[in-house]
Amino acid sequence: MHHDMSKIRGFAAIVLAAVIAPSVTLAEGGAKNVILFIADGLGYNHIIATNYYQHGEDRKQVYENGFTQYPMSTYSVRGKYEPDIAWESFLYFKVGASDSAGTATTLATGVKTLNGAIGVDQGGEPLRTILDKAEELEKSTGVVSSVQIGHATPASFVAHNKSRGNVEDITRQMIAESPLEVIFGAGHPEFGESGEPVDKDDESYRYVGGLETWEAVRAGKAGADADGDGEPDPWTLVESRAGFQQLMEGDTPKRVLGLAPIRSSLQVNRDGVDDVREDDDPFQTPLLETSPTLAELTSAALNVLDNNPNGFCVSIEGGAVDWASHANAAGRMIEEMIDFGAAVEAAMAWVEENSSWDETLIVVTGDHECGYLMGPDADPEHTPIVNNGKGKMPGYSWHSTSHTNQLIPLFVKGAGAEKFEALADEEDPVRGKYIDNAEVGALTMELLE
Ligand SMILES: [Zn+2]
Repeated sequence: MHHDMSKIRGFAAIVLAAVIAPSVTLAEGGAKNVILFIADGLGYNHIIATNYYQHGEDRKQVYENGFTQYPMSTYSVRGKYEPDIAWESFLYFKVGASDSAGTATTLATGVKTLNGAIGVDQGGEPLRTILDKAEELEKSTGVVSSVQIGHATPASFVAHNKSRGNVEDITRQMIAESPLEVIFGAGHPEFGESGEPVDKDDESYRYVGGLETWEAVRAGKAGADADGDGEPDPWTLVESRAGFQQLMEGDTPKRVLGLAPIRSSLQVNRDGVDDVREDDDPFQTPLLETSPTLAELTSAALNVLDNNPNGFCVSIEGGAVDWASHANAAGRMIEEMIDFGAAVEAAMAWVEENSSWDETLIVVTGDHECGYLMGPDADPEHTPIVNNGKGKMPGYSWHSTSHTNQLIPLFVKGAGAEKFEALADEEDPVRGKYIDNAEVGALTMELLE
């Protein structure tokens, strides 16, 4: 359905929310488990470039095979996407892009909001997220990211704050007040950007909710009631790669706060052989052995979450696809996309071994494109990425160090996946019939039952 924001702007917020949230009638076919993958900064060309480097041919990512694919618009409550003029000028996509906080909130709630908003609407009021609904259904809940646990994407599923900049309070809400069973990511205050032990400073505690919260975690006392019995359920802290690997099989603690032993992201900020923006090809600088992969975090998270017979809902973010794209570091971006694909593959293996596609829905998408990645010599033409063969960097060019307003791909498979088709009813001259991210968020929430 098409929502022309200019026509409804000015109505009361409650009317706006009602207009934006699509009404979908489900005959049957809801999902017991929902696994939502978000590659932050993902665009079509990020996938194509990764395919060419990794496989020497296109459409080889696991989520491109056996999933149904749709284009998805990502504009904020103040934005718009106009397919009729979007491709006419090279400049169009650079204007009015959304950000990770607003778009993650939209995917988590079905409601469009302002850039920077964490789990709140454009008036600053807290929104009910899909994890809230999962809790109401007595399911287990989790967030996983390759960047800091309180960064925009994971935070938007759990916390409520008008500004993503209030990271310390956002992360404190997640650790000290939330009922989640799994919070995995980076942001460990005692390690540096290449996993080296560092002297702690006040700044380093922001990403673990402040010193007080961190001391409570260390003392085994942090954590609110997770199972509804009124008693606190303290987090078990995991902070080594071996610790995450142990969680991948067998019995697990009830709740796990997992902090990879690294400052801000699993791999993307590790020291490089040279200037990472231009000279690092994928894996030219060996990956840090001390950081878990996103695939390992995914397997570990699912093994904790599937302890609950009622099912679970989890969001899993490839957060550094965006960071590499901001830096126009194509090699690092491809590394992140390869790990993201491996994480989806790990979740698919979990479904096939422990569940079924009749009861589990996997959604794979992004929040907005980042970097305006195109083929060589793109401006003013939107030239395609050039395939130089497996193991060779493809031909590409970046046209922004920030986000763009392009349509991005969405992939769905499993319980309720067929319901997305009815919402893809707007037409883009290049990408075809597309869906909006608010519709995706609302439908995914509705399918969880
Ligand atoms: Zn970004």
